[in-house]
Amino acid sequence: MVFLLLLAWGTILASCGQLTENESPPPSLKMHVLNVGQGLAILFEHEGHFALFDAGPDSIGLADTLYARGVKKLDWVLVSHWHRDHAGGLLDLSAGKNPRPEIEALLYGSDTAGVWLRDSVLSLAKKWGALVRLVERSETWDFGENWHFRILWPPSYGRWGENNASTVLQVDDGVLSALFTGDLEKEGEAKLLSLAPTLHADFLQVGHHGSSQSSTLPFLAQIEPTNAVISVGKDNPYGHPTYSTLRKLTLILGDSTRISRTDTQGSLFWEWAFQIGIWNRGVF
Ligand SMILES: [Zn+2]
Repeated sequence: MVFLLLLAWGTILASCGQLTENESPPPSLKMHVLNVGQGLAILFEHEGHFALFDAGPDSIGLADTLYARGVKKLDWVLVSHWHRDHAGGLLDLSAGKNPRPEIEALLYGSDTAGVWLRDSVLSLAKKWGALVRLVERSETWDFGENWHFRILWPPSYGRWGENNASTVLQVDDGVLSALFTGDLEKEGEAKLLSLAPTLHADFLQVGHHGSSQSSTLPFLAQIEPTNAVISVGKDNPYGHPTYSTLRKLTLILGDSTRISRTDTQGSLFWEWAFQIGIWNRGVF
């Protein structure tokens, strides 16, 4: 169904060459998977508004990267968990050649580990005037009128630490959906599926940089994505992404070209046309 819609939309664009006067393009959400080496940073963009899921490691020049993309303000920054490769980028946000973006809200999950990094980032965020807030499963908010963001993990009960405490973010437009799992590993994936047994996503950020500790076959088979992206550092010492993860992804996606990687392709971006399709627009 989605494929047919995508095909129809492609045909319209191809036959017209460009949109006619009376046609306006559908609203779109851009998802930039920034090449931050071994780490994760995803920039959402919609009608001049920006938001960030994770910030990559420190010393990668996040402020300059964001400045180059025209980001002066972030509506929110969501930190999946307090590991350096996901939150360290916020530590040196003021150290770039260019001014750091203003941050309206700093959201974070209930990871009990990484106390030093958490305290350092939260204190910086408060100094910058950001609203600082803990988010938990079931919390929802909108980005623009059409995209709904929801926290799926971790739940408010229990204590979660390290990778399995990763905040899992679901984005949907009423028809299509995307799933961002941070570094969630197999234990977290199983518990998440027990809470949401029918969970599906068209687009998947592959957990923990493609580690063998994440992306179990039952999890991938349930999510059944048609596009997957692995944010991972070139020649990293952990052997990410592992051969077994790539094989499982190829099996589920049915086509290895639907697996994108920042280590071999650089920064990538997808364009999500409201309720029509999610296209990989290549490198940026
Ligand atoms: Zn990580």
